[in-house]
Amino acid sequence: MTKTIQTTCPYCGVGCGISVKADEAQHHLKVSGDTAHPANFGRLCSKGSALGETIELKGRLLQPKVYGRETNWAEALDLVADSFTSTLKKYGPDAVAIYGSGQLLTEDYYVANKLMKGFIGSGNMDTNSRLCMSSSVAGHKRAFGSDTVPGCYADFEQAEMIVLIGSNAAWCHPVSFQRIRAAKEANPSLKIVVIDPRRTVSCDIADLHLPLASGSDAVLFNGLLHFLSEKNALDSAYILAHTEGFEAALSTANIDSEQVAALCGLNKDDVQRFYQWFASHDKVVSLYSQGINQSSSGTDKVNAIINCHLATGRIGKPGMGPFSLTGQPNAMGGREVGGLSHQLAAHMDFSNADDIDRVARFWGAQNIAQKPGYPAVELFDAIYDGKIKAVWIMGTNPVVSLPNADKVKHALQRCEFVVVSDCIENTDTTALAHVLLPAQGWSEKDGTVTNSERRISRQRALFQPAGSAKPDWWIITQVARRMGFEQAFHYQSPVEIFREHAALSGFENDGTRDFDLSAFADITQQDYEQLQPTQWPVNQAYPQGRARLFDDGRFFTQSGKAQFIAVTPRPPVNRPDQDYPLILNTGRLRDQWHTMTRTAIAAKLNQHKPEPFVELHPLDAQSYGLVANSLAMIESRLGSMLARVQITDSQLPGNLFVPMHWTGQYASRGRMGALVNPIVDPISKQPESKHTPARIKAYQPSWQGFILSCRELTINEPEYWVKIKGEHFYRYEVAGLSLPDNWQDWAKKSLCDNESATPQWQEYQDPGLGNYRAARFMGNRLESVVFIAKESMLPERNWLSGLFTKAELDKAERMALLTGRPPVGIADVGILVCACFNVGEKTIQAAIREKGLKTHQEVGLCLKAGTNCGSCVPEIKALLYKG
Ligand code: SF4
Repeated sequence: MTKTIQTTCPYCGVGCGISVKADEAQHHLKVSGDTAHPANFGRLCSKGSALGETIELKGRLLQPKVYGRETNWAEALDLVADSFTSTLKKYGPDAVAIYGSGQLLTEDYYVANKLMKGFIGSGNMDTNSRLCMSSSVAGHKRAFGSDTVPGCYADFEQAEMIVLIGSNAAWCHPVSFQRIRAAKEANPSLKIVVIDPRRTVSCDIADLHLPLASGSDAVLFNGLLHFLSEKNALDSAYILAHTEGFEAALSTANIDSEQVAALCGLNKDDVQRFYQWFASHDKVVSLYSQGINQSSSGTDKVNAIINCHLATGRIGKPGMGPFSLTGQPNAMGGREVGGLSHQLAAHMDFSNADDIDRVARFWGAQNIAQKPGYPAVELFDAIYDGKIKAVWIMGTNPVVSLPNADKVKHALQRCEFVVVSDCIENTDTTALAHVLLPAQGWSEKDGTVTNSERRISRQRALFQPAGSAKPDWWIITQVARRMGFEQAFHYQSPVEIFREHAALSGFENDGTRDFDLSAFADITQQDYEQLQPTQWPVNQAYPQGRARLFDDGRFFTQSGKAQFIAVTPRPPVNRPDQDYPLILNTGRLRDQWHTMTRTAIAAKLNQHKPEPFVELHPLDAQSYGLVANSLAMIESRLGSMLARVQITDSQLPGNLFVPMHWTGQYASRGRMGALVNPIVDPISKQPESKHTPARIKAYQPSWQGFILSCRELTINEPEYWVKIKGEHFYRYEVAGLSLPDNWQDWAKKSLCDNESATPQWQEYQDPGLGNYRAARFMGNRLESVVFIAKESMLPERNWLSGLFTKAELDKAERMALLTGRPPVGIADVGILVCACFNVGEKTIQAAIREKGLKTHQEVGLCLKAGTNCGSCVPEIKALLYKG
């Protein structure tokens, strides 16, 4: 029977509502955007649209495992509880740690944090959200006295100017970007400025792009503050009534546009244009993301932006304000419960003795931690150094995502006791666990998440759990009870945890803390089931939630006034030098999410950018002898990776960009985390993931090739391999330094997997040119193809890939097969552009050419491409531009 359920997308911080038709018997989902959800009003991006393809049971962790052996929950939970208890008895509470994730639901996060900080008695609970937005948390706290996002998404439609700073929202927050695009189309006078060293696809709607030098954002915003003062564009009455510290901030920002342009590597006229637009538009929203946060001066950058909004009184009112876009679906929920190691709970932290006492009394915790624990990078250093002896990692993959990731791997290899709870069995991190605990996946979980605009939404279970998988809150609660904390962890369901979380937020609050859900402290099970997306605070004063804070000019500092922060810009700590002359930048792609554990399951999401790649400027490509689509080795002082070269003038000279997603499960050497330096911001402790000195050189294999197969293969011999799941096939890109003795033997070894049936082979070989091509059939059905060449002159993969959908090949196809090109009369669709409707580049080019299409809307009408999530519109426009 099919049932319709409203839930929330588990990927990014936009927090889109999803309407799901779930067929339990068939284990099948039909996903569409929830038209009533205020975050997306029915829109979904390519990732959200493909959620129905990520729910397969293959690859799921279905049973607890202890030292590699499947077992039952009782044994696994006993072992975790006993090991944690004996470790803390022997070495003290700071010898254990939890490392959580913005993928956890708020209820999961709450009990994990309560266990560690309240009852184990250590601050050692941190989260991967540290890598994503802890600089925003610190900046908010300094300016507002609270970690508050003042505005809401509706401000996008009401703004006169939107500034995107260090944010490729078109790919990283696609539905918010589509909302901004629609606002611009409805109101062409809406000014859009993109500030980013890269000319990303977000520039598609920009009136102005400022490609500033990496790390120079604080200079630019100090210059803006100075300019606003010089041009009498300040709101002096607001500054006087509602802020403190203005004079010090202004005198520290004493820099004119010419100096700014020189220091930021920008055109002076462009800098002045941006400043004049900012000064002359009242309703300005400044959206910022990882380009600001992931920096050794990220907190100062956040405050340099906020300073400009405070100085103009542009905060808390419709269409204006600083706005941090959070990366993960529940990064905000993590902040609410105190998931960062310096936080306590409900927006209280260790810096205030009254907070510690208050939370201890509320929890009835005799042994509450008294000081912050280790933040993420230091936490894994402490594991490496043997200070932390037992760690529990929940729903995250630090062996891939943390800076200096090889050291993180070694740290876990050296750790006495590693527990990992996850829904996926094989990740780079689960491989190092002593105990594996199967957690429920997105389609099975039940609880709440909070998005970037403070909106709490329900995530609802769609299916019965897979195998023995359990909710994270249940797993944590069971361990807590076994550790002797039965009384405080008696929960039977998520609503009980949510009630307690809400009650704590209102406990002795009296308007002194921004985060207040006291109206939900007694929420019934039924109301929780039916909870509609609501922006906190939700209390007696705002029973329906509150769209904007600070509209009354009242802040959560001691004086009630917002604080200007005097910012002295600092360059990145590690700068390029003779040996490592380039700057390595890292970031997200349109169709992948984090370490690909879920998105790589959806075939259509792997076609847009199938391999790890490195983008660099044509001048750098020339200097380093790199050609497009060749392979390159990128090295930092910490590690190296291999990636496909993409040459583009959207990069500044001297800069490299690599995607953050590839893991050891999908590529032999694609983990960018192995290169990233573990330099952190001194206040927020967020790593500087966008600025690592690096170098690049051509990687020259003796041979390159690809394999397409209807079966998943074990390819681990060549130095370079990448696994790409497609519709009805797996694709392997391969390259090697040493030539096999015999290609036939190599191909047969790679493809033949103990099969009883006898395959037929088609082969072609030109040893002089180093070419080998083979096709393997079972009857008339194509089973695999292998294409090997000395150079990278290989046919495109699209037409060949499409043959795996056919029950048998016709004569023309069989004859054309080893040429790699379709027979005359059959078109190759080219690389995928529109993931929602599976439309390839060559199909779009042909339609543009043959039908004289002039706009992306016309392409949409003709092919549907770009008409769902719209994430590919910039690429369609680029194809139209090329003609
Ligand atoms: Fe999910 Fe895309 Fe919405 Fe983000 S923008 S929540 S990934 S559908």
